[in-house]
Amino acid sequence: MRKKLVIGNWKMHGNLQQNEVLLSAILRNIDGLAVDVAVCVPFPYLQQTANVLNGTALAWGAQTLSEHPFGAYTGEVSASMLGDFGCRYVLVGHSERRALFGETDAVVAAKFGVALASGLVPVLCVGETLAERNEGRTLEVVYSQLDAVIDLLGVEALASAVVAYEPVWAIGTGITASPAQAQEVHAAIRRHIGCANSEVAEALPILYGGSVKSQNAAALFACGDIDGGLIGGAALVAEDFVAICRAAA
Ligand code: PEP
Repeated sequence: MRKKLVIGNWKMHGNLQQNEVLLSAILRNIDGLAVDVAVCVPFPYLQQTANVLNGTALAWGAQTLSEHPFGAYTGEVSASMLGDFGCRYVLVGHSERRALFGETDAVVAAKFGVALASGLVPVLCVGETLAERNEGRTLEVVYSQLDAVIDLLGVEALASAVVAYEPVWAIGTGITASPAQAQEVHAAIRRHIGCANSEVAEALPILYGGSVKSQNAAALFACGDIDGGLIGGAALVAEDFVAICRAAA
């Protein structure tokens, strides 16, 4: 039985004072819930987050990392640096990184590899655009995003990872995939990975992301292949994020 996991993605939001209030409010309200919870914060706030969350049940992580282990890459942040700040998770291949920062499947796979090598848990984000869905290409797109990682690192690499299915048309739009739409893709992802290794597929947490709110979370999380959520906007409001964690628990 896979334990549910809820990860908040703060994107480029927050400041020292707001973060303190948000983290404390989440901590006060998730104690004892039967769900794993984490927040992925902007790089400058990793030290603050580590200070507040160290020794608690709330894990933390980053939103991206360099595909290089070290070197002359001005402005980049490496996997081992994230490890120094106690990160457990790192998002790779978020659709905003793919669309706005030109991250290709090959770059995403390389990032996944350096994260794993440093002992981080990569959260591989996959998902189709609205045009791709309308052309009936959802699974083709999602499979090729998964295969970039499997071809480079082997299917066993997914044994220490998380996959997040995030239809691009649902991210930050207020339009959520219906539980049936999401479950269909989640089950297909598990089947696709299962063709290479059924044990890895069965154990893999597959999160849904895209306008998850307290009102729709329970119905999504009730689906057999939806193991929790990757939460953007609603992760910035303690009450909403906690309600989503409760729905998962
Ligand atoms: C995200 O950024 O990963 C996300 C799912 O955002 P939102 O919940 O705001 O749609």
